[in-house]
Amino acid sequence: MNVEDLPIADQVKRILKEKGYESLYPPQADALDAGVLAGKNIVLASPTASGKTLVAELAVLKKVLDGQGKALYLTPLRALASEKYEEFQKYSKLEKTNGRQVRIAITSGDYDRSDEHLGNYDIVIATNEKADSLLRHKAKWISDVALVVADEVHLLSEADRGPTLEVVITRLRKVNSNLQILALSATVRNAAEVADWIGASAITTEWRPVPLREGVFCQNEIHFRDGSSKTIQPITGNAIMDISLDTIRQGGQALLFTETRRSAVEMGRRAAAVLSRSITPREKRSCEIVAHRIRTSGEKTRLSETLADELALGAGFHHAGLHSAHRRIIEEAFRDGKIKILAATPTLAAGVNLPARLVIITSHERYEAGYGRYPISVLEYKQFCGRAGRPKYDEYGEAVLVARTEDERDALFENYVLAEPERLWSKLGVEKVLRPHVLSTIATGFARTEEGLRDFFSSTFYAYQYGSRAISSRMAEMLSYLGKEEMIEYYGRELTATRFGRRVSELYIDPVSAVIIRDGLYRRAANLTEFSYLHLIARTPDIAPRVYPRRGEDEKLAAIAADRAEQFMCEVPDELEGSFDPGYEDFLAEVKTAAVLLDWIQETSEDTILNAHRVEPGDLMRLVQISDWLLYSAQELAELFGHKDLRKPLGQLRLRVEKGTKADVVPLLALQGVGRVRARALHNAGFKTIEDLREASPSELSAIPLIGMRLAKKIKEQAGGLIKSEEWEELRSTRDETEQSLLTEY
Ligand code: ADP
Repeated sequence: MNVEDLPIADQVKRILKEKGYESLYPPQADALDAGVLAGKNIVLASPTASGKTLVAELAVLKKVLDGQGKALYLTPLRALASEKYEEFQKYSKLEKTNGRQVRIAITSGDYDRSDEHLGNYDIVIATNEKADSLLRHKAKWISDVALVVADEVHLLSEADRGPTLEVVITRLRKVNSNLQILALSATVRNAAEVADWIGASAITTEWRPVPLREGVFCQNEIHFRDGSSKTIQPITGNAIMDISLDTIRQGGQALLFTETRRSAVEMGRRAAAVLSRSITPREKRSCEIVAHRIRTSGEKTRLSETLADELALGAGFHHAGLHSAHRRIIEEAFRDGKIKILAATPTLAAGVNLPARLVIITSHERYEAGYGRYPISVLEYKQFCGRAGRPKYDEYGEAVLVARTEDERDALFENYVLAEPERLWSKLGVEKVLRPHVLSTIATGFARTEEGLRDFFSSTFYAYQYGSRAISSRMAEMLSYLGKEEMIEYYGRELTATRFGRRVSELYIDPVSAVIIRDGLYRRAANLTEFSYLHLIARTPDIAPRVYPRRGEDEKLAAIAADRAEQFMCEVPDELEGSFDPGYEDFLAEVKTAAVLLDWIQETSEDTILNAHRVEPGDLMRLVQISDWLLYSAQELAELFGHKDLRKPLGQLRLRVEKGTKADVVPLLALQGVGRVRARALHNAGFKTIEDLREASPSELSAIPLIGMRLAKKIKEQAGGLIKSEEWEELRSTRDETEQSLLTEY
């Protein structure tokens, strides 16, 4: 099907042709044939890079340009939402039939808002969680949504993120019975089941724009699925490096999926050593620039230094422990071809689009405490394979598993290369997962009786797969919990949420977290300190990642707990002499998590936190973000329950957690470009308030470490007060040092 013949506005065709699209890929043509532009519900299950996004773009534009309503584009991750937002920008100049330009918005953050301003936009790109929170806030514009695109629908099977997606789809369908749904998925076995659930047709394909060669390496040979094989020269003493070098020599890049973060770092190190022998001076120069960018953005840690050392030689690693700014730099450098070998944990396969000619799945096993070792799913393996082959750059992609013996090679062939991906199974049945959704269904008025509640949940994918009874049998226990904790109440048969219940639903926290916080606020502590609040939020099931003690650390943590015995806003469990008590282990983890947060707000460096607690920057950032949200929730609940005196200390603490500072520099944090390190530098130089800065001379400011001229100017602009232009000119001529990282928030 040619772009010229598409049943879509000429202005869209023009943009597609400018981008070099001439005809549709087969899965795209299938989706159009199935009626995606005529309003039909479709589940499109096809491999990564098979062009699903264009199908979504066409469906969205058709709806919006024809004035049929808004489109909501759902993604499971913020990074993916940003990626889609960027991709949609090329359509921002298009005109609707009413002559107005198409307006596109992205929304992911703050969950406690209805964001009515989004009603002014035609296309809203949101994470699943944000869409859920908007539904909880009853955002009015949601009823104008005529098309929802649900991206990465295979995540329905994931315990963490699947249930939210499932509930959001169910709810959106209730809000608008004419809603069109386009669900995009990796290839799965039961796409037809998902389709049947939402009244859609399923399209399942294995088509890829770049052909894929799947194989297993064993004893210097890669055996491919098509019967061919390739001999790998043993050069480095390490098979994974040898296979990678083979591809690099032919101008390709290698992506190595590892089981753990530690092995990603180690494999990156090994790759750097191997590449150091062949890197040209020109390549080295461009790699050193990438390394320099890592060194000059964000705080310096042992991890970022290791990364920079590897990058300087054309290798690197990518995992969730890295600072997000560093991950972005690596992704960009890999796309630019500067990094030749990148070792990554599986999070990369589920996240941003980063293909390479060669993908090596270095381990087909995972380890989880409590479960032991288990093999990865075929679906996960296929996700890795999906990253093999760069469209436009590579003629083919290679995905290789590594076997130690011939028996293992045969097993890997059978269990992965030749295997079909698993079916998707809903995970909504887990109590912890279901409970908040039961509360929000009542709080938002989607159900007003127990029957109504059963009716709502009977429309979920879980009920489709397991039957409606499977959910209603769990309901009684949950309703009794929510009733006992005064989040819901009955008037005869009518079921409503209390103010507490409604607020908990809107705050987007687990009802159990809300109960812990509420009880803590009432109980208080003999000696109420920052630690008290930090421990309180560290107890909630929403905190993540909770930091568990390392071996031999229990005693130290028990001593901290004893020292701070009067600061806990809960009962302190007794240590059971000599016997293992999981409850006590959890308590120590709460203490440790609170201790990490306390260090953070004492301005302890990220590197010290990494060394002292083994908490990597990426995890620290996530912990900070969630803690910030829980402290906000605590503040809101303090308001609701009339603890007026606690609002201020909680608000102050929240700001400090957000920025990672002591109280004295808080006034300076309002300035853009000033994070905790620079705020401290300003403070040390005697600038303690915005007023002080108003009086400061530019040369004084720019002489402060890490401030520099450009930022000094920006600070002065924000602080107000006159700046004489001659003064700036003079400064500019005397010092124009390297200030590229100035606007990163140090
Ligand atoms: P998916 O969403 O299935 O992972 P994408 O939509 O990201 O795949 O498409 C992969 C790449 O293919 C993108 O770079 C996109 O620009 C390109 N592409 C998509 N459709 C076409 C087409 N019909 N012709 C040429 N290139 C296309």
